[in-house]
Amino acid sequence: MANPLYDALLARHVGQDTPFLHLPDGSTVSHGAFMEKVAQTVCALRELDVQAGDRVAVHVAKSPEALALYAACLQSGAVFLPLNTAYTPFELEYFVGDSGASLFVCDPSEAEALAGIAAENGCTLHTLAADGSGSFADLVESQPVTAPVADRGPDDLAALLYTSGTTGRSKGAMLTQNNLLSNAQSLVEEWRVTSDDVLLHALPIFHVHGLFVACNTMLLAGGSMIFQPKFDVARVIERLPDATTMMGVPTFYTRLLSEPAFDRALTQHMRLFISGSAPLLAETHERFEERTGHRILERYGMTETSMSTSNPYDGARRAGTVGFPLPGVEAKVCDPETGAELPRGEIGVLEVRGPNVFNGYWQMPEKTAEELRADGFFITGDLARIDADGYITIVGRGKDLIISGGYNIYPSEIEMFLNALPGVSESAVVGAPHPDLGESVVAVLVAEADVPLDLDAVDAAVRRDLAGFKRPRHIAVMDALPRNTMGKVQKKNLRDQFAEVFT
Ligand code: ATP
Ligand code: MG
Repeated sequence: MANPLYDALLARHVGQDTPFLHLPDGSTVSHGAFMEKVAQTVCALRELDVQAGDRVAVHVAKSPEALALYAACLQSGAVFLPLNTAYTPFELEYFVGDSGASLFVCDPSEAEALAGIAAENGCTLHTLAADGSGSFADLVESQPVTAPVADRGPDDLAALLYTSGTTGRSKGAMLTQNNLLSNAQSLVEEWRVTSDDVLLHALPIFHVHGLFVACNTMLLAGGSMIFQPKFDVARVIERLPDATTMMGVPTFYTRLLSEPAFDRALTQHMRLFISGSAPLLAETHERFEERTGHRILERYGMTETSMSTSNPYDGARRAGTVGFPLPGVEAKVCDPETGAELPRGEIGVLEVRGPNVFNGYWQMPEKTAEELRADGFFITGDLARIDADGYITIVGRGKDLIISGGYNIYPSEIEMFLNALPGVSESAVVGAPHPDLGESVVAVLVAEADVPLDLDAVDAAVRRDLAGFKRPRHIAVMDALPRNTMGKVQKKNLRDQFAEVFT
């Protein structure tokens, strides 16, 4: 009997009284206590007749019980399907229907609204609240604290994660045992994660970042996590002294930098800060180093591939780059039209291949065939450049590329220029239909809190320093950029909003 993920991530923790989760109320859940909860949850899944391979859709607040449900799916061979807590019942209907989940665990507050959806899709509905109560929790509570381990192979499905829906409708990425295990092993090694590590965990656990990158690596290495329900800058600062590492999306780091209490003394003991899920501005990287002396380690990945590249632990962490392919991962930059590999330094579509690359999109064979080549390379849809030293820079998403009068315009280049201007805190550049040019450039600016934003000066700087075809012909100011819960700028919303400015 074997179950690679269970064997590597979970088996060794049974009966251990080492700390695993440090909770906001000051209590600590040991590895052994967590594994008892996992076993009880496995028994509850059996009682609900969830079989190996069945999808378990989960739309609940972050809690130790929710994490135990993930681990129980690994142990029992069920396919874990976490869903963004921000989704509404209207949105959830798609995921439940598309995945054919046999069990749906939701927050008690939404049970009534979801009952119809569950019934229509022939799926059992149970509840689990942030405080660990609910009908599913009651069932778990009544179970024995040991449970069988399902036999699974490396190619068996472990999780079904839907992409964030930044560029279109979310797709279900089928992730195997080996996808998740190989990635956790690489990251533990690359980032030198050990059982002495205490990870400050303020990310959600419905996404690759907070679930796999954070929890799988800590389970594999045997460290513990300061498990916070969400990112609250004051709570993070309060608990940082007890942490050794932190993982965050770029907005975590910009928010920390806006707090004077976040300084060198507070962070001196830290071993590592990691960033990903969205581009970390070079400026944030530099300000972070000035303030703390730490160079943030930026890595790059996606739902379909978990992590593909990382800046080095030892060696130069280059601001604005996502580092090198992880061991066992190949990366190349290709011509978007022909698929031919481009010479170093040129911008094209990034393709990756390795044990991390998913098995295809759930029930979308055509979409899978479009993006996953027969030779195993996955077409990420991100535009990138590989420099002479092998560092990879993500230049933006293919779908965000603006083509104006036949010229390719990379929004990130213009955004970087705008961000550096006085009074501009951040920016987002999108294309909008233009009668003569096909598309032209719209820039959305967010003003800095304490420096006035002079739009005439912005326009003058743009005219002086940027080629005419790159010049934003429409500049708008917003209080904040539209971002999703992972800090990703929702350019789709901006494109819709500014679709008619040139027509
Ligand atoms: P969808 O595929 O549904 O449009 P999505 O691509 O935003 O949504 P995710 O899989 O959550 O869904 O995000 C992966 C994307 O996040 C990558 O393709 C890339 O564009 C972006 N990303 C992740 N890490 C980084 C990083 N370090 N720098 C720049 N972009 C990043
Ligand atoms: Mg994507």
